[in-house]
Amino acid sequence: MREHFTSPQWVDLVRGQLAEEVATEMDRHLRAGCSECVAAFDAWQGLALFAAEERTLTPPADAVRVAKSYFAQQTLAAPLAGPSYPFISWASATTATLVFDSHQAAPAGIRAAASFSRHVVFDAESLVIDLHIETGSRAGWFLLSGQIVDRHNPARPVDNIWLSLVDERLEISSFQTNHLGEFRCTFAFRKALKLMVYAGRDVIALPIEMLLDPGTHSSR
Ligand SMILES: [Zn+2]
Repeated sequence: MREHFTSPQWVDLVRGQLAEEVATEMDRHLRAGCSECVAAFDAWQGLALFAAEERTLTPPADAVRVAKSYFAQQTLAAPLAGPSYPFISWASATTATLVFDSHQAAPAGIRAAASFSRHVVFDAESLVIDLHIETGSRAGWFLLSGQIVDRHNPARPVDNIWLSLVDERLEISSFQTNHLGEFRCTFAFRKALKLMVYAGRDVIALPIEMLLDPGTHSSR
């Protein structure tokens, strides 16, 4: 049996972006019964379905308030909590690894387009975080949508996990994954933007600022 396929290859397969001969080879590999790749394929196909579904999921108006009280409770309960919590957690956060980037695959003409759209996948601990960033309808604003999957348990959604957008030490917004592990928010461009994922005791930081196209926020 040949070597396994990589996550970016599965992403391309489920989005129908592979040459037919490669897709056929991957299909043959799945049919050969490689359980590791079948699990990966199932997880990525789930993400592709999510991406194709309606994209109007908006966090409830009071989500931020609920998140604030959640963090307040954590401050009381967390043994390591100090006066500057959650800054302590942010400082000790694990930085996620970028494992897929649609911009690296796109031709220069597409990269230079006026509207901005980028699909990236991050790895951190056992979590795979799938992100779509697009320009919003208002200049300088972006739409962020994504889904979190546990690589060790792709069938079980990573639901009710809190995330927040942080600029330096300022929390801009906080939101939660839904029952499918999906999340969505909008934000205005900032220079030092990070997406923090609060996964149990682990805090994972995703460097969003490096994904934003400088050309799309400077022009008005
Ligand atoms: Zn395999």
